[in-house]
Amino acid sequence: MATAELDRAALDELTGSFRGELIRPGAGGYEEHRKVWNGSIDRHPALIARCSGTEDVIAAIRCARQTGLPLAVRGGGHSFPGLSVCDGGVVLDMGALTGVSVDPDKRTATAQAGVLLGQLDAATQAHGLAAPAGIVTHTGLAGLTLGGGIGWLHRKFGLTIDQLLSVEMVTAGGEVVRASEDENADLFWGLRGGGGNFGVVTEFEFRLNPLGPQVLAGPIFWPMEDSPRLLRFYRDWIAEAPDDLMTIVMHRKAPALDYIPAELHGKLVVGVVCCYAGPVDEGERVVRPLREFGSPVLDLCAPKPYLEHQGMFDASYPHGRWYYMRACDIAELTDEVIDITVEHSMQIRSPLTAFPIWQLGGAVARVADEDTAFTSRGAAYTFNLTSMTEGPEGFDEERQWTRDFWSALAPHHMGVYVNFLMEEGEERVREAYGPAKYDRLKALKRAYDPENLFRLNQNIPPD
Ligand SMILES: Cc1cc2nc3c(=O)[nH]c(=O)nc-3n(C[C@H](O)[C@H](O)[C@H](O)COP(=O)(O)OP(=O)(O)OC[C@H]3O[C@@H](n4cnc5c(N)ncnc54)[C@H](O)[C@@H]3O)c2cc1C
Repeated sequence: MATAELDRAALDELTGSFRGELIRPGAGGYEEHRKVWNGSIDRHPALIARCSGTEDVIAAIRCARQTGLPLAVRGGGHSFPGLSVCDGGVVLDMGALTGVSVDPDKRTATAQAGVLLGQLDAATQAHGLAAPAGIVTHTGLAGLTLGGGIGWLHRKFGLTIDQLLSVEMVTAGGEVVRASEDENADLFWGLRGGGGNFGVVTEFEFRLNPLGPQVLAGPIFWPMEDSPRLLRFYRDWIAEAPDDLMTIVMHRKAPALDYIPAELHGKLVVGVVCCYAGPVDEGERVVRPLREFGSPVLDLCAPKPYLEHQGMFDASYPHGRWYYMRACDIAELTDEVIDITVEHSMQIRSPLTAFPIWQLGGAVARVADEDTAFTSRGAAYTFNLTSMTEGPEGFDEERQWTRDFWSALAPHHMGVYVNFLMEEGEERVREAYGPAKYDRLKALKRAYDPENLFRLNQNIPPD
């Protein structure tokens, strides 16, 4: 077990001031809190500092600096490559900070950095409001927001960062700063897509928008053999779709879930999952041509509470399974892209592997690219080639499937969403931002974290 000895004096100093929980190897809770969502990641930090507030964050940062140990920062623990946990270092864990407060009159919400998406949605939907965020309720708000944030509402309300009003952050030097359009505007620009490179965010403030509570939402499935024709129909159909409609295409083996008839379990299917964020009757009109395409084997697109739809994928992406993912943005669903997609989808072996093709555009594309560090605004789709197994058995083969599929799409890659990167090296991080933004982010890094204390992330080194 890699448990580097923690400097005694630094630990004593931290213990003296820390009000949250400090967990060392062997202590109760260590096994629980060192685990992250991706079960293929198995790391043993020297210390897990579960912060109870901003003062604890400052103390944990000081301790990491004094000891020189690597510092991982954890929100919801959903980093695909497991960047929020490290061997032999300090994990600064924000998971206990789950406060959300909503001001329904001003239509704003503040959320602490350990909030999970389901907690934010529940608090805002209680007032018929919503902030756009992701599609799995147990994902952390912090990591998702700092990378950009795509989900069911991005075509209507933009990315999560497009509704972000301000953040509070602790710098590498232990200083508490705020960032918004009016305060430290350059930092605010960088935090909207630049990830955890600049400091530890303690609180986010969002603008909210009225939503639902009923939406027309859910998947419609066809046999996977229909995919070549379906995808060609789909690309033409969504070309005219209003921004209220957001869709995700899924290729997979039908999961053995309650709402899927037993005779479909394990069969290769293609599904288009819809979420219409406007009036339900209008949504029915918009979705009708899709329902009427070919002969769906299952149609679960129906009026339902937005909160119920938000939980739809939770069971398909649980904690602890082994996951591998490669991603790319794509400009167009050309015939060639469709053919590659179908060819590789037909080869899915694992009953758990399920990869989303996200529709982008709408409000995401209406924000100028230079306004935020996030850089996938011009893409029409983002492909999230996720493979999944229960554990190590079959994992290598499934991972190879992801890699081969991703390589086959290489001629069509047009960048990548930073939150969908594995540990792929500096060139890929640069690719996620493009050279001009990458240089601007580097300059910001030099200003806020010149020693690269925050390097366990999609790192933008200062020099
Ligand atoms: C099941 C699942 C579903 C997903 N769905 C979506 C989706 O719908 N839309 C989408 O856009 N993305 C989605 N993602 C990707 C997701 O945005 C990233 O994995 C994101 O990093 C998760 O945030 P987290 O706080 O849970 O991650 P963590 O693993 O806790 O953190 C990831 C990184 O974020 C940084 N970070 C975390 N907290 C802080 C903080 N307080 N201050 C500074 N830096 C911090 C750190 O650099 C850390 O390494 C999904 C991921 C998973 C696993």
